[in-house]
Amino acid sequence: MRKNIIAGNWKMNLNRVQAITLVENVLNNLPLELKADVVFAPSSVHLNKVVEICANINNVFVSSQDCSSSQNGAFTGEISAEMIASYGVQYVIIGHSERRVNFNETNALLKLKVEQALVNNLQVIFCCGESLKQRQNGVYFEWIKSQISDSLFHLSAFQFTKVVIAYEPIWAIGTGVTATSDQAQEVHSFIRDIIKEKYGEEVSQNTSILYGGSCNPTNAIDLFDQKDIDGGLIGGASLSADDFSAIINSF
Ligand code: PEP
Repeated sequence: MRKNIIAGNWKMNLNRVQAITLVENVLNNLPLELKADVVFAPSSVHLNKVVEICANINNVFVSSQDCSSSQNGAFTGEISAEMIASYGVQYVIIGHSERRVNFNETNALLKLKVEQALVNNLQVIFCCGESLKQRQNGVYFEWIKSQISDSLFHLSAFQFTKVVIAYEPIWAIGTGVTATSDQAQEVHSFIRDIIKEKYGEEVSQNTSILYGGSCNPTNAIDLFDQKDIDGGLIGGASLSADDFSAIINSF
């Protein structure tokens, strides 16, 4: 079912004490009537602790920032989807642009990660988005379509219901430059259309599509007001309990 979701991607930030303090402060600030699911995506070493803190809190979930494309074996340093799921984690972010760019993750590799996640009952937050050059050259629609279709469109309609899409224009990530709500809505609507083409109206209407890229308490209200924007994947602002709480309260 289509849900509003606010997910905080901490990236490689926060030590143990800082991580615990942040989660506890955000949980203490949750409104009585929560209008969005909240997802924390800490670094892998903190997953177990964050799951423990969030256990039994309604509508609060935990996500890994990545998972291996392999099931198990001699892959030193890798973390499998099965390991992640075994700690009670519910989501995994797959295809973040930092992993695509810095670790050369291709659409084909991400397809394997998606498969590992779903086999292990993890819901996927699948990231897509164009570079500044691609936006300026007007090729962003076809780029995003290929990211989504190459890594996800082998899934059955049922499997696709376990996927959340995060549209994250690379030029807006960590730059302080946000896509305008019109720019974001245009792409979100396009993404919903291609899902409809592939899986039909019902699946497309039930898919949550999040925006990510310099989202903050000031721009969140306008972004989340758009008809096809169902929340946000938040980087920098998720490291501040006050800012993240304010974003959660933007619905
Ligand atoms: C992100 O990395 O997913 C992200 C959206 O970062 P920021 O909010 O800092 O732009």
